[in-house]
Amino acid sequence: MSGRLADKVSVITGAGQGIGRAAALAFVSAGSTVWAVDRNSETLAVLQSKQPAIKIKTLDVTDGQGIARLADEIGPVDVLFNCAGYVHAGGILDCTEADWDQAMNVNARSMFLMTKAFLPGMVDNGAGSIINMSSVVSSVMGIPGRFAYGTSKAAVVGLTKSIAADYVDKGIRCNAIAPGTVDSPSLGDRLAVFDDPVAARAEFVARQPMGRLGLPEEIAALAVYLASDEAAYTTGSVHVVDGGMSL
Ligand code: NAD
Repeated sequence: MSGRLADKVSVITGAGQGIGRAAALAFVSAGSTVWAVDRNSETLAVLQSKQPAIKIKTLDVTDGQGIARLADEIGPVDVLFNCAGYVHAGGILDCTEADWDQAMNVNARSMFLMTKAFLPGMVDNGAGSIINMSSVVSSVMGIPGRFAYGTSKAAVVGLTKSIAADYVDKGIRCNAIAPGTVDSPSLGDRLAVFDDPVAARAEFVARQPMGRLGLPEEIAALAVYLASDEAAYTTGSVHVVDGGMSL
């Protein structure tokens, strides 16, 4: 295979839809072997029907034993893109203990488990790129109604920097991506709960300095770069791609 990710093996979580799906397609186009992981087997099947080269695995990334089995099955990988995530909407007084635990489990603990499972293979190879999906709603900025989400995405930044510091001399890079608002299926779900979803969408767009939402493919392009050897000199960084939202 030729391309920027030729001869690399990548695992991408949350690959059934949105940014993870766009990344899976972009990684294959760039020459990588791709394992697309998601808890939704139906969206994975649709993805594979579009791009048969993609290998799919149904897995909940909060399931530590399932992750360990996946790592045994796949073997060493060059790239781990932890993209699966979940948005809890609301402020602190809307957040139950269960909401908090779910946000931290899906958005941060899953990255701890996935990285712990795949890092040893990278250490053995003396090379690897770990990409963690954060958000500008994290340590970068706060917005109303994203208490548990922003907290968990800030944890992703700390996790990323910690792993980067521990493995910087072992050929392993670990970076975070911090998107602004991206037009993905789950954004549609979040807009659908408004009385007037069309007006809500227009308000979302009006808040964007560029006057538009981001596209999953625009975030996937950054992930391809971070996965590639062209990004050899960046680690422990939060790569913001937000159309100016956090300016
Ligand atoms: P999305 O929310 O539409 O889809 C997320 C995917 O992750 C789904 O396929 C879902 O099934 C999967 N998933 C969720 N929980 C899972 C679990 N426990 N185990 C396995 N798979 C699971 O996609 P999106 O909006 O593109 O978001 C992708 C990532 O980007 C998330 O981490 C999200 O927080 C982050 N992000 C999104 C935006 C945005 O505006 N869309 C902005 C910043 C960051």
